[in-house]
Amino acid sequence: MASPFTQLQKILKHEVQDGYRNRIVIGGIGRFADHWYRQARAALREHDPDVLLLLEAIYADLRRYEAANIEERRLLIEGIEARIQEALQRERELRTTRPAPATKDEPAVPPPSEPTPAPPVPPVEKPREEPSTPAPPPRPERAAPARPRSRGAPPVPPKLAAKVEAMGLDAPVHLIHGVGRERAQRLSRLGVQTIRDLLYLLPRRYVDFRALKPIHRLRIGEEVTVIGEVMDIGSKQTGNGLTVIRALLTDGSGIIECTWFNQPYLLDRIRPGQFIVVSGRVDEFLGRPVFRSPEWEPADRELLHTARIVPIYPLTEGLTQRLMRSVLKRVVDYWADRVEDPIPAWIREAYGFPDLPTALKQVHFPEDWEPLEKARRRLAFDEVFYLQIGLLEARRQWRSVPGRALAFDETALERAIEALPFSLTGAQRRALDQILADLRSGVPMNRLLQGEVGSGKTVVAALAAYAVFLAGAQGAIMAPTEILSEQHYRTLLSLAERWAGAGLPTPTIRLLTSGVSGAERAQIYGELAEGTCHLVVGTHALIQEEVAFQDLAFVVIDEQQRFGVLQRAALRGKGYNPHVLVMTATPIPRTLALTLYGDLDLSVLDEMPPGRRPVLTRWLMPEERERAYTFIRRQVEQGRQAYIICPLVEGSDKIEAKAAVEEYERLQREVFPDLRLGLIHGRMKSEEKEAVMSAFARGEIQILVATPVVEVGVDVPNATVILIEGADRFGLAQLHQFRGRVGRSSYQSYCLLLAESPSESAIERLRAIETIYDGFQLAQKDLEMRGPGDFLGTRQSGFPEMRLADLTDLRLLEIAREAAERLAERDPDLQAPEHRLLAEAVSRFWQGPVEPS
Ligand code: ADP
Ligand code: MG
Repeated sequence: MASPFTQLQKILKHEVQDGYRNRIVIGGIGRFADHWYRQARAALREHDPDVLLLLEAIYADLRRYEAANIEERRLLIEGIEARIQEALQRERELRTTRPAPATKDEPAVPPPSEPTPAPPVPPVEKPREEPSTPAPPPRPERAAPARPRSRGAPPVPPKLAAKVEAMGLDAPVHLIHGVGRERAQRLSRLGVQTIRDLLYLLPRRYVDFRALKPIHRLRIGEEVTVIGEVMDIGSKQTGNGLTVIRALLTDGSGIIECTWFNQPYLLDRIRPGQFIVVSGRVDEFLGRPVFRSPEWEPADRELLHTARIVPIYPLTEGLTQRLMRSVLKRVVDYWADRVEDPIPAWIREAYGFPDLPTALKQVHFPEDWEPLEKARRRLAFDEVFYLQIGLLEARRQWRSVPGRALAFDETALERAIEALPFSLTGAQRRALDQILADLRSGVPMNRLLQGEVGSGKTVVAALAAYAVFLAGAQGAIMAPTEILSEQHYRTLLSLAERWAGAGLPTPTIRLLTSGVSGAERAQIYGELAEGTCHLVVGTHALIQEEVAFQDLAFVVIDEQQRFGVLQRAALRGKGYNPHVLVMTATPIPRTLALTLYGDLDLSVLDEMPPGRRPVLTRWLMPEERERAYTFIRRQVEQGRQAYIICPLVEGSDKIEAKAAVEEYERLQREVFPDLRLGLIHGRMKSEEKEAVMSAFARGEIQILVATPVVEVGVDVPNATVILIEGADRFGLAQLHQFRGRVGRSSYQSYCLLLAESPSESAIERLRAIETIYDGFQLAQKDLEMRGPGDFLGTRQSGFPEMRLADLTDLRLLEIAREAAERLAERDPDLQAPEHRLLAEAVSRFWQGPVEPS
């Protein structure tokens, strides 16, 4: 059979004679080139790589022929002719020196400047050779990729081995062979100090390079791995001064070009004749597949960067993926099996979790997606499990001290309930009964009362406080703002009036905020210390040092998410193991509540007072603002009231206040000149705020213009419409809180949202708030949209960081809770020797003793 090269030679000769006009073959030389190339490839299938390389080069030139001008065509043909000569020459040589060209592939393992990947290589993870792979080893007569050499040394220099051995997982990373001080410094920016930190430095993601393919079957765009022999490698400079390393790789089925930018050292690392494995996305150059900056590594080692599911680590400056993988591979290989599993086997078995060494190995260098998923879940479980153990422990500690067993006149309390202007909802009654049981029990209460905005938490707290008063002790209610404190104070006063009217004992109630000063304050201090004041409502002013109680037995913290752990503890510290009730409207999904508040008992108000109607919510276009004003006016004409919330303003509350004043003046002057408007913002004095709020509560102010300060708690049932400007700037929870200011009566209420140019995520929020009325569903939506960070925020400081656990995985949370309870039944204090490691892990997780919230 004629050589394809001589065939081409003939055609090109005609072309030269015809004056480079590209008329010699029908369809032109470009079209012919494809046909010729296919045939040549078939004919040269088992051929020498050099010839194949020439073939590729010739083909590339032929494809450029059509677009070239006459002069370029002349040059192209000259070049092709030279290559043809070379190929023919090579063919002749081969014919005489058969059977095989000299092998050039002595194991080319230049000492890498990176740490050698994976020295101690157990034969478990041999280089991946897919039995199904269509790629034959490049040439049958050549050795297949060699087995990795086995070395058993720990991944530290010998003289440090003893030291590292002694420190174990707490050894600093700079002792690891190939890390050293400088890299340790860089790793510390990723929060990595010790070997343990390194083991827990988890990949951000993974790339699947397991698909092994022969070169001639590569498709543009796919992520694949190719094993082949380096035929040629060289470098060239680009116009802008970059070095490009270009290597040609063959596996016998074809040839592919690989290029790397600005890695000149590759010239020393990759040698012609070496077998390498290359993984990456197949790119396209002049219609042919190429690899650009692929991962690569010698084929005779355990594969780390190619042909597997490859981990991608978080990096900082000066660290590369290759380095991280190499370091982690050594550390994981050596240390993972030496990590003792703190999770008792019975728990692992009960829930089907892999052991810790397996999980660590799989999470770094997964064999497959499934074991990876199991490993991640196992590691996430550890976190929530430690969390639950800590919370249950905090709960036990809380309950281990003696509490007040309060005895009160039960009939008087029932009569107080009857004296209310309404009857309690079933949910309120249930929650109250749970609280009363705690008060009687002699064990300090630590309870969370969670209820949708407007569900009526205040009255539940007030009744509990009344019971405490009946028992002869004192109670305190702390709220985050003066407005809210004052509102609670008014509520309590009006309830007390009713109780007095019903002939019941009447408590003395005081308000203590920063606005209360001088003689008045001194008098309240005196009454609290003597016990003549029975119930006090206030802000942070309650936890001032000077405040002392005669017998504080009950503490209520409203809108608890607004307070820090220390503030709550401070109020609690005013009494002797007082009963504590914290209240929140943040609608946390129940399982998440168990996770975040696992140390608290939970009462939920999941029922609204009768007659409430969902607040109709509309997101309006900016040009509909006038319509919104008209709508508000009509509501006011019907005797209702309205809120207008000014947008959040970046910067100081001074700027925000100024903007609010301007908006208020504009509305009063231009839009509602005939109506009574009021203004409230954060920079006003407390008496001013108080005056405005009570005027609004009495109905004297018809429209209240407010900065976002009215967000929580405010209760004016006659208000039926709230207009929120700049609604795109608020989170879902906040919008829901605003909306909760209306819909507090049986009148139909409305929430109108205005947003100038909402972002995509803001649009999603606005749509959600428009269509979802239920706080729990909305919280679920929030969880999906933003993750649990915000809910963690509601828990406040002192809460450990969760790195892995996905708090939307409710099932895992349940499992962790259940496992922690089962563990507590067996060994509450983790005293048993088999739980020693677990106890250590839990305290490491919480970094010190658990602080009860
Ligand atoms: P939140 O749970 O948001 O703190 P509040 O305690 O402020 O709610 O109560 C909201 C409104 O509902 C108040 O005006 C309160 O008087 C009223 N309310 C509370 N419980 C009932 C009930 N069982 N029936 C009718 N109205 C009630
Ligand atoms: Mg409230």
